[in-house]
Amino acid sequence: MPPVALQPSVWASLERSVDMGTVPPALLFAGLPGVGKVEAALALARALNCEAGPSSRPCGECRSCRRMLGGNHPNLRLIYPVPSPSSGKSEEKQQEEVEVALAEVLEARRIEKLFAFEPERIWPGRKASIQIDHVRSLKRELSYSLGEGNARVVVLAEAHTMTTEAANALLKILEEPGPRTHWILTTSRPGRLLPTIRSRCRAMEFEPVALEPLTEFLTSRLGAPAAQVRTAAAMAQGSPAAAVRLLGAGADVLAERDQALELWRAAQSGNWSAVERAVEGLRFRCYRDRGLVGRILRLWLLFVRDLLLAKAGLPEGQMANLDRIEAVRKTAAQVPWETLNARFAVLEDCLAAENLNVAPEVLLYSALTRLTQAPGPTGAASRQVS
Ligand SMILES: [Zn+2]
Repeated sequence: MPPVALQPSVWASLERSVDMGTVPPALLFAGLPGVGKVEAALALARALNCEAGPSSRPCGECRSCRRMLGGNHPNLRLIYPVPSPSSGKSEEKQQEEVEVALAEVLEARRIEKLFAFEPERIWPGRKASIQIDHVRSLKRELSYSLGEGNARVVVLAEAHTMTTEAANALLKILEEPGPRTHWILTTSRPGRLLPTIRSRCRAMEFEPVALEPLTEFLTSRLGAPAAQVRTAAAMAQGSPAAAVRLLGAGADVLAERDQALELWRAAQSGNWSAVERAVEGLRFRCYRDRGLVGRILRLWLLFVRDLLLAKAGLPEGQMANLDRIEAVRKTAAQVPWETLNARFAVLEDCLAAENLNVAPEVLLYSALTRLTQAPGPTGAASRQVS
């Protein structure tokens, strides 16, 4: 199943326009990072250039399809944001720097199973934007006539990062995009694009992928154990690439969840010396693993969410912790609504603070203190975590 299958409504609309020959010259794909926007843009480029003729079902075997899949088709240009070149260098050197940086992203994209662009991982501490040099060289390329194939496709990923210069140059290009040329801008922050650019594009909204199809997709694609995949998919909040990253590098999502629940259970039963030991250990791990506290908070949130779903008698298909369904049902029956709602609110609050540079141990203690003080009877029921 190709990633575009996870975006059925967007893809159906694109298929119709390919088959009718009405693909707009400028498109804007908006949605969460890693939700499949660039994948869809590349699939569209393949569909338009298949040697069997433009078709929503490209053959996948002709020379054009193969070159598209290999990422080296002359009619396809994929541009990502890169750090600004060092000032004080010659224009030539600056251009070279920008090209090298772009090649780094494309290589990372080639290696990863599902790629979500995160400049922080490639160039820590540097801001990345779409550079004027890239827009200029695209403009030059577009002045040459089309060598082979049916249509030229230019993809600008995370287009909202364009520098002002680049945005103005693009605006001029979009006024006359050129024959058989399609510009596809992808963005996770459409509000940051110049309104004048937005208004020249047909916008398409990419939705977060629901838990069931995402779990199914990841299981078939990665062959990882179902319970692991399900928890990762739930934590990824609808982004296939984020789920793949969670499952990558041998990470054991379920073990992490069990540890997180164990920590909460210790706090709930008043065993604060055990909590202290655990938090001390986590504090050190956080130096190497910056996302750790966020993941723990999200695992707690997903557990409370499952309790709420179970209490409301909603279908199990939406639950993250299906492998613990018995414990979820039992706890849901014992803990009152107001306690669950209060805990949910506490965790949402803490997750919002996660990006504010709060020290990890402070965030964990604050969450645990507030979680264990959530309103409700103080008997065995509210002490129960799972
Ligand atoms: Zn083909």
